[in-house]
Amino acid sequence: MVQQEHGSVTYGVITESNQQESRVALTPEIVTRLKKSNIACVIQQGAGEASQFSDDQYEKAGATVVSRDEVFRRANVFGFINRPQDADLAALPHGSWVVGMLGSFTDQQYVKKLDQAGLTALAMERLPRQLSSAQSMDEMTSQNSVMGYKAALLAADSYGSFFPMMTTAAGTIRPAKVLVLGAGIAGLQAIGTAKRLGAIVTGYDVRPASRQEVESLGARFLDLGLDFSQGQGEGGYARQLTQEEQAQQQAAVDSKAAAFDVVITTAKVPGRRPPLLLTKAGVEGLHRGAVIIDCAASDLGGNVEGSKPGKTVTDNGVIIFGTPDLASGVATTASNLAARNLADVVSHFATAEGMKFDLSEALDDALVVSGRTEGDGGNE
Ligand code: NAD
Repeated sequence: MVQQEHGSVTYGVITESNQQESRVALTPEIVTRLKKSNIACVIQQGAGEASQFSDDQYEKAGATVVSRDEVFRRANVFGFINRPQDADLAALPHGSWVVGMLGSFTDQQYVKKLDQAGLTALAMERLPRQLSSAQSMDEMTSQNSVMGYKAALLAADSYGSFFPMMTTAAGTIRPAKVLVLGAGIAGLQAIGTAKRLGAIVTGYDVRPASRQEVESLGARFLDLGLDFSQGQGEGGYARQLTQEEQAQQQAAVDSKAAAFDVVITTAKVPGRRPPLLLTKAGVEGLHRGAVIIDCAASDLGGNVEGSKPGKTVTDNGVIIFGTPDLASGVATTASNLAARNLADVVSHFATAEGMKFDLSEALDDALVVSGRTEGDGGNE
């Protein structure tokens, strides 16, 4: 039996295991929100420090600030920004719930581990975003939007010239030419931010609807001369292109990219590895000092051949940043948004008797990836 703080649902958050992570899954503002839904909060001492939230602020909002071990002892639902690592899994009480981005589409082994640990797990990446009741839970949208903004800022900061045109006594400097590949939530935010910084921006996406979205931000749409009019798949998302289409797309992107100073990539297909858009040949075609920000970079690969998390400089002097974690660089706001998304998911499943799910509800059926016993997922 999980010992609870008070009431029937206690939400617990620890410091993220990933030392590069500055975000936190609970903020003081969200403690207040959860309290109104009769959900108590416990948080590890110092967990909010990197996001600029003090223990004192959490306590004032009504949370209990305790050691990491005590969080595991007192809570029965646990929120994470990054999925729990092995040490966390070992410490999570049998019968408790976890909520976060779990990578469940690409890592079935991990889902098995959650099951074996006796956890009921809610996978934020599976949120049916088109449901209007799910909008406030959409962590992918909130974090991707922060990521797109930060990608443009990182590009501007790393590029050896200005984004805007500048007229100086020593001559006129032309504006930077920025190409954004993938114009979803992150891409459109990157386009808007690069435009506001004064760059000449071009966007591209495989979804036909995106041309209008790109142009409505005052950017140009990159015409690859290819017809992907069927590029939209289920639920308004991109479908995976066939191998032949991918090869055509790569060749076209590679040759067009050479005209740009900055390339920002954000293309993803739900539940799959990110598509490769810019190959080694495309990277080699860019000029020395050109900057690439690959927001889709991961250990599985990204949108740019040869990109990996962190900074790489190619032999021809192109600077590539693999940046899956850019939202962490805007930690205060990104935490507030993610915490709100997670809290709304927890509130959805919270009842007076504890956490419950009902697999006949679309939202519950989509989110629960482990501990799917028939009936309800009450605490043991
Ligand atoms: P995402 O992160 O899965 O993908 C990012 C972008 O990459 C998408 O726009 C996709 O079309 C694009 N892409 C995929 N493969 C590509 C390729 N080979 N070449 C070029 N581009 C490629 O998606 P996202 O940004 O989260 O959202 C995508 C769409 O879903 C947007 O239109 C968005 O408005 C919509 N959306 C709807 C809701 C909702 O209904 N509530 C919520 C969020 C997003």
